[in-house]
Amino acid sequence: MKRLEDYRGIVDEKILEEIHKKAEIVRDRHIVHINSTYQGGGVAEMLSSLVPLMNNIGIATGWRILYGNPEFFKITKSFHNALQGEETILREDMKKKYLEVNENFSTFTHLNHDLVIIHDPQPLPLISFYEKKQPWIWRCHVDLSNPNKDLWNFLKEFIHRYDLVIVSSEKYKKKDLPVEQRIVYPAINPLSPKNIELSDETIQRVLKEFNIPLDKPLITQISRFDKWKDPEGVIDVFRIIKKSVDARLVLLGGTATDDPEGWAIYEKVKKKAEDLIRAGDVILIINDGNDILVNTLQRVSRVVIQKSIREGFGLTVTEALWKGTPVVASNIGGIPLQIENGVNGFLLDPHDKEGFADRILQLLQDQELARRMGEKGREIVKERFLITRLIKDYLDIIISLS
Ligand code: UDP
Repeated sequence: MKRLEDYRGIVDEKILEEIHKKAEIVRDRHIVHINSTYQGGGVAEMLSSLVPLMNNIGIATGWRILYGNPEFFKITKSFHNALQGEETILREDMKKKYLEVNENFSTFTHLNHDLVIIHDPQPLPLISFYEKKQPWIWRCHVDLSNPNKDLWNFLKEFIHRYDLVIVSSEKYKKKDLPVEQRIVYPAINPLSPKNIELSDETIQRVLKEFNIPLDKPLITQISRFDKWKDPEGVIDVFRIIKKSVDARLVLLGGTATDDPEGWAIYEKVKKKAEDLIRAGDVILIINDGNDILVNTLQRVSRVVIQKSIREGFGLTVTEALWKGTPVVASNIGGIPLQIENGVNGFLLDPHDKEGFADRILQLLQDQELARRMGEKGREIVKERFLITRLIKDYLDIIISLS
């Protein structure tokens, strides 16, 4: 189990001192986080690091999962898509099921905590089923810049009851909310299996196990098989690259329990890249929580691509930057918070396939540029996007709501 002290030498001493001081002010406060999956996606990734560390510094922090079923997750995935701007028809039966699952959960989940933190839309209506005795925070991780109107109006009824809304970017703040809104950037844990330094021996073992040769330069996208991550577009970009350089592409994608669309997208990508897969130039891997595999790929890839159409923040970008690997990514959502174009990576219009291919080729051909960008990437993550900064932000919030 990680302790805050383990981060000495990795992050600045100053931040550790600040954390201890702030934790002293709210010691023994009892807090609970609620989201809808233990595994898969950025939220679970962050909570699995944040929760134990908060306990380690003396804040009694729990984590509960909203129990849904496939029908519920189909509805909440459509909500997720609609919040990110997709057209949707909001039917009464969808609303009913959404509320039913939340109400059911409330009947066996006692919330006597000093603070309740709800992540994303799935457990958002829970607040309606409790007698509110403490501050409630809605921590929204998705891109809220252009939500579907009907859905937004429906969800607003619940958001109104919260004391604070946290979003990942200034762009996601909503003018029509009478609730205070703050920005907290997500973060990665440099000591988790996904980000920790790996020995050459481990790297070689993993590459062998998954049959990933390094005889050609490797390009990787690590993302759930989700249309917003545009894995099909990545295949198109790769076909352009292949005209100039003999490279290999790995698409690694997990399936989150709260994301029912993954398999269909995976099948589509597989079909689209059939010839490339047969030739061994595209490798598709379904990842079932193998963090060392993610870590290895982010380290051995010459370039990491993140060709998302929407991206709340993009922890996969942060993870690759931390490993000194240059990233070529879409200039959307939370990605420009992490990449300064031309400094620690390249930003492109998500639909500019030629542009993606050109920048990747440039990095494959100019190793000195790739090294410099990688170095800058690591510096930026160290400064802004490590878990210690996230702990400090949460402590500030707990203090301000006490
Ligand atoms: N992830 C993983 N295995 C995979 C695909 C993704 O462990 O096969 C992780 C990835 O390393 C990152 C998180 O899931 O930590 C994805 O977070 P991000 O913010 O990039 O996107 P989200 O899935 O939340 O939209």
